[in-house]
Amino acid sequence: MSLALAARMGSLGTETAFEVLARAKALEAQGRSIINLGIGQPDFRTPDHIVEAGIKALRDGHHGYTPANGILPLREAVARDIHRRLKVEVSPANVLVVPGGKVTMFFAIVMFGEPGAEIIYPNPGFPIYESVIRFSGATPVPMPLKEDKGFAFDADEVLSLVTPRTRLLIVNSPANPTGGTVPREQFDRLVKGLERHPHVAIMSDEIYGQMLYDGREHVSLLSYPGIRDRLILLDGWSKTYAMTGWRLGYSVWPEKLVAQAERLAINCHSCVNASAQYAGLAALDGPQDAVHDMVAAFATRRKVIVRALNQLPGVTCVEPGGAFYAFPNVSGTGLGSRDFQDVMLSEAGVAALSGTAFGAHGEGYLRFSYANSVENIAEAMRRIGKLLTERTNKRH
Ligand code: PLP
Repeated sequence: MSLALAARMGSLGTETAFEVLARAKALEAQGRSIINLGIGQPDFRTPDHIVEAGIKALRDGHHGYTPANGILPLREAVARDIHRRLKVEVSPANVLVVPGGKVTMFFAIVMFGEPGAEIIYPNPGFPIYESVIRFSGATPVPMPLKEDKGFAFDADEVLSLVTPRTRLLIVNSPANPTGGTVPREQFDRLVKGLERHPHVAIMSDEIYGQMLYDGREHVSLLSYPGIRDRLILLDGWSKTYAMTGWRLGYSVWPEKLVAQAERLAINCHSCVNASAQYAGLAALDGPQDAVHDMVAAFATRRKVIVRALNQLPGVTCVEPGGAFYAFPNVSGTGLGSRDFQDVMLSEAGVAALSGTAFGAHGEGYLRFSYANSVENIAEAMRRIGKLLTERTNKRH
């Protein structure tokens, strides 16, 4: 007898980054030299004082469950950190500590998504937004992000997508996969326009909020008091502190949703690994030099990769304002994004992702993560240049 899965399992998407990583690893195992610019995680180690705090927590006997919403000192540290960085007051009671940034998006989307509901999300954008929206039964409404606007949203365009059925609007700045940042005036316009749509909740994914270049400042939706009663903030430690494998994130929920979010946590994971929470506390309360050094290294690599991409035949790349991704337009090469991704890996030994892994509006683009050394980035660009030149010569 065949097993009968719930129909919604058929609508669950995935994150191609993990598949490309597996293919790259398989090629490496065959002895091929692979440069991985595919995976979205810092290539730095978690700073030592954070690791030590995690180890100490285990030695001190923090082996048991913690409160479902997270240990109080950590939620207090999150509130202090938000105040230090954004000058915004947040109550520790509204903070939910979760196992990674993804959990907040899953909770927010399943809280609002059901058949008949609409959820607006960035496209190209983090693939899990669209995947979970479909899984929830809601209709995904793409907010197209365009190169000529530096991949920032246009507030009027976003507002034009709102209908009486819209339940949730997802925004992400600085963004994955484009590195785009939304200017303050667009956020101002969006928030002003949302006054006319009080039925719409907002989830702001600010996980790259501390990775900004050329003196840009982070604009957080937390700093708009008018929407605080319907704003869900997604943030965490993964990118800022090079802690992707610790599985630690947090959200800030409005008063009327926080108990529901905590209930989802209790149903799903009970609480976050206790030692990871103590490590997260050390990250927020300790020195921030490692964060600044890492962002400075990304700033240098960003210059290197953007310059090199713009020298490739048929490729143009706008300068990303944040995160650690470049999103070049490769439509001039004659290769579709997915084909480009595949030949680049199989023939040039460079792993990067097709723009279509981030939604239909990513066609014509590739995503390169520059969380890799300058030497590796330069070598990857040399290999891609050779690949493109050989293909052009073959055609003539
Ligand atoms: N949000 C965005 C925009 C991301 O790019 C990522 C990870 O790549 C996440 C959230 C998820 O982060 P985490 O690894 O903490 O779940």
